[in-house]
Amino acid sequence: MAWSDHYPVSILKSFNEQIRAFFCSILYFRKKKSDTDFMRLIDTHSHLYAEEFDQDIDEVVKRCAEQNIQKIVLPNIDVDTIDRVHNLTDKYPDLCVPLMGLHPTHIKENYQKDLDSVLSQFDKYKYKGVGEIGIDLYWDKTFFKEQSEAFTIQLQFALKKDLPVVIHARDSFEEILEIVEKAEYKSSRGIFHAFTGDQNLAKRIINRGFKIGIGGILTFKNSGLSDTVKDIPLEHIVLETDSPYLAPTPFRGKRNESSYVRLVAEKLSEVKQLPLEEIGEITTKNAIELFQL
Ligand SMILES: [Zn+2]
Repeated sequence: MAWSDHYPVSILKSFNEQIRAFFCSILYFRKKKSDTDFMRLIDTHSHLYAEEFDQDIDEVVKRCAEQNIQKIVLPNIDVDTIDRVHNLTDKYPDLCVPLMGLHPTHIKENYQKDLDSVLSQFDKYKYKGVGEIGIDLYWDKTFFKEQSEAFTIQLQFALKKDLPVVIHARDSFEEILEIVEKAEYKSSRGIFHAFTGDQNLAKRIINRGFKIGIGGILTFKNSGLSDTVKDIPLEHIVLETDSPYLAPTPFRGKRNESSYVRLVAEKLSEVKQLPLEEIGEITTKNAIELFQL
């Protein structure tokens, strides 16, 4: 009774479910595979040379290869990180794109000596840009004058060398835009990294011909960035991680790594309602053109 009445039916039902699950998983993995087969990604901002990666850098780089990450741009921080940038680039020359510059949070009253040693590196080593430079008024406003001077010197240097700049702007979009909007910097180019501004700021950055760097913040709930980014044409966006900082959801608060740029691409695809492949192709093209990779 039990056997003839419902046992065969439940077998049939569960068999159907299994078949469906099987084909769904094939489709899912085929889609995943075709995505990563054809979709290229570039992380335009990563400190993968930081000591946080000393123990497992080979594994980290392997995960980047699995996500088809073609290039990782490495902005320098200060004099102490120069060797680290070089060492990682020498180890993975096809993957790493080194930049040289002095970060605003490392500028104090006697910044000139540090700035000289950073900029003198350009005589010895080949870089694809000047970075990371900018103004940071979030942590400390004491050296605003010095930060502005160092930023201006490095912006002029990049212009002379015909190189792009990677800009760190924290609580300082207005101050930085006031500088880059001056006529003498008309032909400077680069990225406003870790963008968090509104539509109006995005417009000013785009009008100046700069790219907007989008990273893990886009995945944070209540960041409000989705509403702004939704309306920024993809032609003006590049992807980044800022590893080891600002890890995207679901890794928020943990160590960030360049392979997570894929999560940023996925979120951008959702926000802009565009296929993931298109996000990958266009942002990669933007980065290639900007850094002449
Ligand atoms: Zn950075």
